[in-house]
Amino acid sequence: MASIWKPSKPLRGVKPCAWPLARLNTRAIEQRINADSSDYAGPHLPCRCGEPVRYAGCRAKSFQSVLGEIRPERAYYHCRSCRSGFCPRDLVLRIEKTCLSPAVSRMVGRVGAMVSFEEGRQLLEELAGLRIDASQVERGAESLGVEIAADERRYTEPLEEKSLPPKL
Ligand SMILES: [Zn+2]
Repeated sequence: MASIWKPSKPLRGVKPCAWPLARLNTRAIEQRINADSSDYAGPHLPCRCGEPVRYAGCRAKSFQSVLGEIRPERAYYHCRSCRSGFCPRDLVLRIEKTCLSPAVSRMVGRVGAMVSFEEGRQLLEELAGLRIDASQVERGAESLGVEIAADERRYTEPLEEKSLPPKL
């Protein structure tokens, strides 16, 4: 795919003055999230498989937000039957299977669809101060593509089930 973004001169060294302030805000957001323990829902929860999942302590996870990296603590529940676990907070923050916030995922999807993954990485760093690997841009864009395809299948009816319009 041909790139439509061709920087005439690298923007390195140009750093919006708002970024350091944004980084301070990430610490405040992190502290606020970590002060809230409402994601702990007791020692047991029901699992998708029907068996109870057991609370197995707190786990930290870093994810990239539009303000920078945030590392919240999350209550972790583990199911012995499924041999898997989950963090209720991840569902709320919508970071269950990703290290990118929904807003950053949209940004990654946009640049991944328009330029090469390396150019997308550069754009995200230069325009938003986000340090995301080209491989993350690639995975994020591909993941969004899979979600979009699944949504299209879910919300469109198969052609065979639609009645054809009457002919005039
Ligand atoms: Zn289970």
